[in-house]
Amino acid sequence: MSEQVFSADCTRCFGLCCTLLSFERSADFGHDKLGGQPCQYLKSDFRCRIHERLDDLGYGGCDAFDCLGAGQRASAAFAPLNWQRDAAVARRLQARFAQLLSLQEVRTGLAAASGLELSADQNVERQRLLAEVGADADSAASDVTPTGDAAIRASRLFLRQLGREGAA
Ligand code: SF4
Repeated sequence: MSEQVFSADCTRCFGLCCTLLSFERSADFGHDKLGGQPCQYLKSDFRCRIHERLDDLGYGGCDAFDCLGAGQRASAAFAPLNWQRDAAVARRLQARFAQLLSLQEVRTGLAAASGLELSADQNVERQRLLAEVGADADSAASDVTPTGDAAIRASRLFLRQLGREGAA
């Protein structure tokens, strides 16, 4: 599977991590920010005003964050919608972005599991889940999908079982 599937493309994103996620003043972040509130350094073109100096200014947490490609997927789905002016649409964006973060996280885990010694049945299940998760993550859904939630739950269970067997 191409690395691109899991790469954040901030150039095609509305700075969603910089708006929708919360953080607290700490060694990793220079100020408190509520989820849903744009970062004080986010510009109107959705670029970061201090991007080149994040570490120096105490925002190493921003540098370390990786949405695994959830940002550009959510942004593409909501581009035609009035998410900046309609609070109800903004809430839907926040919820779908959170779901996409989870979808891309389990998708990464399922892809990485191809490097494990799996039984034939386990590999069939891995590929089935990967296809389900991928179909939902790459869809143009602009709401949380029940199919996506089910695929996330099933994938987490599967990956936990693999982890337990690997640790045994
Ligand atoms: S949500 Fe992802 S793609 Fe968007 S700005 Fe943040 S890291 Fe970049």
